[in-house]
Amino acid sequence: MDQKLNMKINGREVHFLRGQTVLEVCREHEIYVPTMCHDERLQPYGACRLCIVEVAGVPKPLTSCTTPATENMVVTTESPRLTRLRKTIIELLLSNHPNDCMCCEASGNCDLQEMAYLYGASLDRFPGEKWALPIKEDNPFITFEPNKCIVCGRCTRICNEVVMAGTIDMTSRGFTAMPDTAFSKPRSLQNCEFCGQCVSACPTGALTNRKSRGLGRSAEVEKVKTTCAYCGTGCNFFLMVKDGKVIGVESDYNAPVNQGNLCIKGRYGYDFIHSKDRITTPLIKEGDGFREASWDEALELVASQFKQIIKEHGPDTVGGFSSSRCTNEENYILAKWIRTAVGTNNVDNCARV
Ligand code: SF4
Ligand code: SF4
Ligand code: SF4
Repeated sequence: MDQKLNMKINGREVHFLRGQTVLEVCREHEIYVPTMCHDERLQPYGACRLCIVEVAGVPKPLTSCTTPATENMVVTTESPRLTRLRKTIIELLLSNHPNDCMCCEASGNCDLQEMAYLYGASLDRFPGEKWALPIKEDNPFITFEPNKCIVCGRCTRICNEVVMAGTIDMTSRGFTAMPDTAFSKPRSLQNCEFCGQCVSACPTGALTNRKSRGLGRSAEVEKVKTTCAYCGTGCNFFLMVKDGKVIGVESDYNAPVNQGNLCIKGRYGYDFIHSKDRITTPLIKEGDGFREASWDEALELVASQFKQIIKEHGPDTVGGFSSSRCTNEENYILAKWIRTAVGTNNVDNCARV
């Protein structure tokens, strides 16, 4: 078992394990450190510099996300110098930012807005050149507003480190640095999985879900935790519900199975919920068509037909095929029903081949 080591944070003695960063130790002990480029799903990056802390014996502040915790280290996370530096960092970001929170899709759910408020940042301390780039909507799921990008690299890193799709990366350098596809080609099924992982990682309104735009801000929606119904993996996420209607999906970073990660189906495949084509009652085939029936009537009919087949031709003429898209419990129930109620071992699952 790993040996617990000791360090001091803000005068408090805390334990940690070898290999943890200062930021990880702070978070584990509920000590607030602001971050913008950090995402627990990704490798530490140290780009935004907001997580700077003071370490005794080190003259300059260090980024806590990239600094390993060491035995007997003495760390300070809040001081007038750190506050001044963090405020300046935010003001530098705001110097090239549209600052149009009033109309922004991300307002209320934006790390930059939250930090600017927290540190009382001025919008115009560093006046100068600003981007005036067009909004990109070259794919069905994602809107990219480059003027709101703070070049934190979370989108490019999640695309490369977690999704491993390699669709986007940082292009250019300096003032013109920007996440983009190779040669600025539109995202398409050839080069993008449309998983929306980049959107989930973006700390500002630069990347937003197209399907949800304009339908409601975070303060207006109720977040309902649920489990994805598309496959048996069991990913969790939040359904964003406004006025009884699902308007989007948000990552659940604490989900044990998927830690905030989702595929295209979980993140964007929710239209069926309110589809008028959904079958809401059992249907019984009559002639060339179907008629609506109650659950009791439908189940009674299915049971009597099975009984008749088994009586006339034996239980081995019946078989059960289940799906890897079902949960373990559903697969178990099907196998049990076929073996015990029908009386045959003709059970199979699509995942076997
Ligand atoms: S991205 Fe954030 S800070 Fe920028 S306009 Fe939108 S809400 Fe405001
Ligand atoms: S949608 Fe997924 S694959 Fe496409 S750029 Fe974003 S993270 Fe990469
Ligand atoms: S688009 Fe968002 S996640 Fe990507 S670099 Fe810009 S601010 Fe960061």
